[in-house]
Amino acid sequence: MRGLRVVVTGGASGIGLATTRMFVAQGATVAVLDLDPSGVPRPLPALRADVRDDASVRAAVDEAAARLGGLDVVVNNAGIGAVGTIEDNTDDQWHHVLDVNLLGMVRTSRAALPYLRRSAHASIVNTCSIAATAGLPQRALYSASKGAVLALTLAMAADHVREGIRVNCVNPGTADTPWVARLLDAADDPAAERAALDARQPMGRLVSAEEVAAAIGYLAGPAAASVTGTALAVDGGMQGL
Ligand code: NAD
Repeated sequence: MRGLRVVVTGGASGIGLATTRMFVAQGATVAVLDLDPSGVPRPLPALRADVRDDASVRAAVDEAAARLGGLDVVVNNAGIGAVGTIEDNTDDQWHHVLDVNLLGMVRTSRAALPYLRRSAHASIVNTCSIAATAGLPQRALYSASKGAVLALTLAMAADHVREGIRVNCVNPGTADTPWVARLLDAADDPAAERAALDARQPMGRLVSAEEVAAAIGYLAGPAAASVTGTALAVDGGMQGL
């Protein structure tokens, strides 16, 4: 990892923050692109950008490349949740979640491709989800957004393999992040809800953000030099592929 120049979207919290810390610990240089970069550890470049806004993404990716002296790795991790069946979510909600979860990855990757083409170790890792393939209840919109991320990953891997750019994704199960903490906090009895959630996991616990980060590091690093167009499940045995 030493010397790899990495940009992590949504790198100020949860899986993205753990990924940022993992890359720094492995000797990479990292810039974080986030809507709210207040959680980014100093002195890393923390670039405020909204993945829904193409101009903002382009400016942040250009600045990241300028600050790091180029780019080798993009981790498309920024994402948001949505709960409900197709009757619960409005068209506006569909547009909003797809704009962040799918088009956000398209915009960031598109802005980064010219830099990645100049790298000898180029790769993109997308944070997908087991929701892409698990058929989860009450997650129609979220699952559709992540199913599209999985398809995007495979198509981009095919499009860019000859350019030496690898494209993979991780499929986390329920991971212990501020996102999940926010959902639990909204319950009547957060402690009981947390215990029930843990009990539903095959391993009796949630996946940690650090475990997902380790998988992202593997896919981005030299050990995965021949790995492209794959999804690596980190789900504690919840689903696999
Ligand atoms: P989180 O809420 O802790 O962190 C998400 C980060 O993304 C935040 O820092 C937020 O500011 C940033 N972000 C949100 N919208 C943005 C936007 N429009 N532009 C730029 N940045 C934006 O969430 P997390 O649990 O760490 O999730 C990270 C990724 O992992 C998401 O793509 C999510 O779908 C995926 N995931 C999470 C879980 C889980 O159980 N936590 C499971 C599977 C997949």
